[in-house]
This record gives sequence, C-alpha cells and structure tokens, in this order.
Amino acid sequence: MNKDKQMYTGKRFDITIEKGKGTYVYDVDGREYLDFTAGYAVNALGHCNEIMINALEEQSRKIFHISDIVWNPIQTKLANFLVEKSGMDSIFIGNSGSEAIEGAIKLAKKYGNTVSENKDKYEIVSMVNAFHGRAVGSTSITGKEKYRKSFKPLLPGSKNSPINDIDALQEAMSEKVCALVIEPIQGEGGIVSSTPEFLKAARDLCDKYDALLIFDEIQCGMGRIGELFAYDFFGVKPDIVCIAKGLGGGFPIGAFLSNKKANLFQPGDHGTTFGGNPLACAVSYAVMQEVSKENFLEGVKEKGEYFKGKFAQKTEGIDFEYEIRGEGLLLGIDIGKSPSELVNQCIKNGLLIIGAGDTVLRVIPPLTVSKEELDKGIDIIVKSIKEIIK
Ligand SMILES: *Cc1c(COP(=O)(O)O)cnc(C)c1O
Repeated sequence: MNKDKQMYTGKRFDITIEKGKGTYVYDVDGREYLDFTAGYAVNALGHCNEIMINALEEQSRKIFHISDIVWNPIQTKLANFLVEKSGMDSIFIGNSGSEAIEGAIKLAKKYGNTVSENKDKYEIVSMVNAFHGRAVGSTSITGKEKYRKSFKPLLPGSKNSPINDIDALQEAMSEKVCALVIEPIQGEGGIVSSTPEFLKAARDLCDKYDALLIFDEIQCGMGRIGELFAYDFFGVKPDIVCIAKGLGGGFPIGAFLSNKKANLFQPGDHGTTFGGNPLACAVSYAVMQEVSKENFLEGVKEKGEYFKGKFAQKTEGIDFEYEIRGEGLLLGIDIGKSPSELVNQCIKNGLLIIGAGDTVLRVIPPLTVSKEELDKGIDIIVKSIKEIIK
C-alpha cells in the first residue's frame, strides 16, 4: 500500500487499522489493540456499535444529503434535543470542531460590531496552551506558537492569557474584547482543568466588558467528563458552547449553541453545504440518546474514579513519579517528561494510546469501556512503565 500520497501533516505510528469492535481495534494483519484513544475522544460508544450501525443504515435508506433550503426531520430532532438539553436558545450544526469554532468566532465578531459604536470591539482572548482547531480563525486563537508560527499574519486582536490566572485575565480583558474563549478542561494542552473560581471570574469579566464567553467543549463535552455539557460540572454558563468529537461518536459532525443574547445571525450571515447532513444527524441523535442517560453519565464518572484508584494501587512501590489529572474519562497521567517512549512501549504491548501537552499520557477510551478493559489497560501501562525504567 502506498501511504506516501497524503500530505505529511503529522507523524503516524506504523500501524494500519482496518476494523474495530467495542474498545478494540484490529490491524490489517489481525493484531488486536485495546483502544484508549477513541480516535481523539470521538468514539463515545466504542467501535461499530450496533445502535449507530442501525441508525446509519435506517437513515441511508431515507436520504443521504439534502441542502439547507429545506427542513429535514432527523436534523430538527437532533437540533431540538441539543438545544433543550443545553438550555441554550439555538444551534448551528456543521461538520467539525474547527468549523464550530469558526462559527462562534463569527458570532463574536458580529456581536462586537453590533454593540460597539466605533467597531473596535474585535479582540478575542483565549488561553495559553489551548487548542481550538486548524482553520485560520481557530489557529489564530490556539494558544501554542508552534501551531501558529508558519501562518502569520493570523486574525488581528487574538491574545492568550494563562489558564487559572485571574489577575492576568483581568489584565487581558477590556472594552475591546468581543469574546473570551476557554476549554473548561484543556485536552490537547495536557488535561488541564479550569478551576470553578477562574470560570466564575471569566464570566464576571465578560459581563463587565460586554464580551461573549465561549466554551470550547469539543473534547471535554458530550459525556466525556460525566456531564453532557462540561459547564454543568463547573456551574458557569457560557454564551456560546462549541461541541464536536463525541457528538457523532465517529461520524463527522460539529455544532455551536448560542444563548439569545449572542445569536445575532441573520439570513445570509453563515452557512454550510454538508452541515446538518441527515446521516450525521441520525448517528449523532442515536449516540446522544445513549450518552445523555443519567446512568450512562454516572458510569463515566465512576469509571474515571475507578481508573484513578486502580492506577494508584497498581503503581505502588514502583520508582516512578506521576500526577493523574482530569475528570470522568478525560484523564491525563503527567509523567514530567516526554511521554513518547511510554506511548511506544504501550503500543508494542497492545494498547493504543497517545500523549497530550509535553509530558502527559492521555487516557480517553470509549465511554462504553468496561472496568475489565480499564484493568487491562492499566496493566499494560504499568508493565510498559516497568520496562522503560529498567
Ligand atoms: C479537536 C479539537 C478541536 C478541533 O476539532 P476538529 O474536529 O479537529 O476540527 C477544537 N477544540 C478542541 C478542544 C479540540 O479538542
């Protein structure tokens, strides 16, 4: 197989995955891997879940695609469900996380243009180490220079402030700011959680300067931390929330929801060809019915605590320092140095896993992972640690 014709945008492991079932994936030679990556926290219900297969098959016999000049029942159903669950006013359904962020940025810019007389309310403050996507707007507000440096000039007025530093945020905010964008728990940045006090201060500062508070819950939302919306965990409500990844459980879809104040779009302001695609909406609706169940979300929290406890127990007496962070099944094991050697060793031992930030091993299995599978994953991580510290 010639693998060289795709643009080289990142290093891949020399593994070719052909199939998956539940928490396992299989390469072209039939080798089995336990999957603790879930395709970057996407496969919420695991691989090839029957619920999703049925939803996709059923919808594929009705219609694949129809444009936004008409309505579609499953699209309306998903939209209404998410609006109701979020307590927001309205939703725009697109295709990816980046596209959700782009839409939110446009809404924020329009808000700035609408409320400011001299049209100078266009700055966007986001967090150091935040990750918001790969389109030009989302790259502009991503908090890592390595993702931005080759693409300048980016959006003017994009500024970063460190997470959980209220003084710095006070400094960064002003009347010129139209939006403050925060991942309640930074994923890519190394599983770094905001404190509730910080988010509360962020809310207050947005109110003070008449700026929109935007939460990027693309990784931490949709049940990943045991709440459908991460803001319910922190008790601070944004004006706009962006979602994607787990929303489709593996079918590409993203969306942003807005409260009444922020929703200033008029006909012609925004659009998408594929967004709200009936196949995507059907799968997403089926996934969301499962994930939003009270006992499902409780299970995610419980499994997260189980992992933390069991990992601590299994690493007792090993000469290995780490800190474990995160909520639910968005967990990070900070080992204080590059995790790449440990990642490679885990993969050798049959566990597909990735890093986050500079020093963190990221644990983001399907939300349907069983305790036995968590045990198995922990055993492989611990075995791999022992092998590399030898
Ligand atoms: C993955 C991710 C994005 C970008 O989503 P894409 O679907 O890759 O465009 C944005 N924000 C966060 C927090 C993410 O984890």
